[in-house]
Amino acid sequence: MSSVLNRFLSYVQVDTQSDPQSTSFPSTEKQRDLSNQLVVELQELGIEDAHLDGHGYVYATIPANSNKENIPVICFCSHVDTSPDVTGANVEPIVHQKWDGADIVLPDDNEQVIKVSEHPDLKNQIGNDIVTASGTTLLGADNKAGVAEIMAAAEILVTDLRIKHGVIKILFTPDEEVGRGTEKVDLVKLAADYGYTVDGEAVGTMEDETFSADGVKITIHGVSTHPGYAIGKLENAIKIAGEILAALPKGSLSPETTEGKEGFIHPGHIGGIQEKVVIDFIIRDFNEAGLHEKEALLKKILDNVMANYPNSKSEFKVTEQYRNMKEILSRHPQVIENAREAMKRSGLNPITRSIRGGTDGSRLSFMGLPCPNIFAGEHAFHSRLEWVSVQDMEKAVEVIVNLAQVWEERS
Ligand SMILES: [Zn+2]
Repeated sequence: MSSVLNRFLSYVQVDTQSDPQSTSFPSTEKQRDLSNQLVVELQELGIEDAHLDGHGYVYATIPANSNKENIPVICFCSHVDTSPDVTGANVEPIVHQKWDGADIVLPDDNEQVIKVSEHPDLKNQIGNDIVTASGTTLLGADNKAGVAEIMAAAEILVTDLRIKHGVIKILFTPDEEVGRGTEKVDLVKLAADYGYTVDGEAVGTMEDETFSADGVKITIHGVSTHPGYAIGKLENAIKIAGEILAALPKGSLSPETTEGKEGFIHPGHIGGIQEKVVIDFIIRDFNEAGLHEKEALLKKILDNVMANYPNSKSEFKVTEQYRNMKEILSRHPQVIENAREAMKRSGLNPITRSIRGGTDGSRLSFMGLPCPNIFAGEHAFHSRLEWVSVQDMEKAVEVIVNLAQVWEERS
């Protein structure tokens, strides 16, 4: 069995689900079970400094074996946690060897069927070995495929001395799925120049662009009275909020009406009483000007509605969440260029695309580690229909090894 498959099958059987309600860090202690296992395996490979820090991050260094100086230090990063959306306990991975192209019925729940018609990337996988869960859990390929690929690549880099490379850093993070994966990362300790998260979808793809993201909190202070004696006085914040929401654009600028490079204004939470209501919005676009336009539109809607309630007040507070990593990556074109070259050497046709969301890489990029996302082969993540092919995972291992080499050659 290939090293990457062997590792993957072992990692998915460790429950590492993160918890958005938790205030501790990592959000669940069980994530350390896998992280500890990874440290032991890295040390067995001879990577002596591999360790788990107090916050649940795994750091490890593969020393350079090239005489060249000034090779940038490259980091490969994946997250150990799995999505809170579907249970990750007692995962029973199944390898469907030499898949024949028929819909895959998962044995523990026959209603769970991975249909070729609904998973277009499957059509390129006929004859490959597909790994799925058994029907009652997620698989955890997001992001244990990436973890297994980095581990298998590390094994090759430390054992095959013909492959020349600079210093390679490995980083495994907790809590990516609850948006906290970079919260306690120590980039000074990591000391890498560039990074790659290995957490992407189809073989040959890479993501160098993410949304730019702000939050807007609108607070409405109405005028509260006893409803029996409210005539001419009550200004009900609940109704004012309703008017604001009703005035949002209908056929555009919402998650349900946009795709590609279009952004949106999205109310995600509302709460309150007649005296005071708070609405939390998220604003998304691929550039900052687009964010500001949408915020200006929302402010105008608010002001128009508030004009009819002279004794009520409102607050409009914008909070920056994250920014499109392209802003950073465009200053370091070699990061993408070298990844494209690494993919070509593996016979792939590299596809660079954008992601309608944020990644840990977008946060890391702005923290000082330019970090696009390269494919891990994960599909249908956060669902019981999750799948990954062994051949795609093997390609990812190859690409990681190639990348280490390309950076050495070009330095
Ligand atoms: Zn992921």
